[in-house]
Amino acid sequence: MQIKYIFMVSKIHTPCPRCQSTQVIKAGIVADRQRYKCKSCQYYYTVSKLGKTIDEYYIIKGLQLYLEGLSFREIERLLGVSHVTVSNWVKKFGVKKLEDLRYHPSYKILNHNELNEFIADRNNLASHGVLITEVGDKYMVIKWERFRE
Ligand SMILES: [Zn+2]
Repeated sequence: MQIKYIFMVSKIHTPCPRCQSTQVIKAGIVADRQRYKCKSCQYYYTVSKLGKTIDEYYIIKGLQLYLEGLSFREIERLLGVSHVTVSNWVKKFGVKKLEDLRYHPSYKILNHNELNEFIADRNNLASHGVLITEVGDKYMVIKWERFRE
């Protein structure tokens, strides 16, 4: 399911400002901005993460967190993207959260050192496992406590 979004989201790159082609590829980050290369005319350009165009990174993260059961307000706090914007993404991409989930994921936001300590402790992984995803300059660890009552 998540792979499907990533596919959909990847299609909405900002078009090339020179030839308006959307056949563009990511070409690294320059000065904190996503850099793209146009496959049609070979032009390089950058897009601000916080301008009118929000990098698809945030869209993907926002939709992921929404699917994990976080509220729009929690997502706003984590990503710094307005809850209204996140709610609009959910509508735009037709993302449907499962109803009646038997488990509620618990999550922590850790820096790299804290993440190492967390992983080093076998008890944190035993019998459920975790999903680690990058959020800004930190890491989000989601515990999959599927069978917790
Ligand atoms: Zn172009």
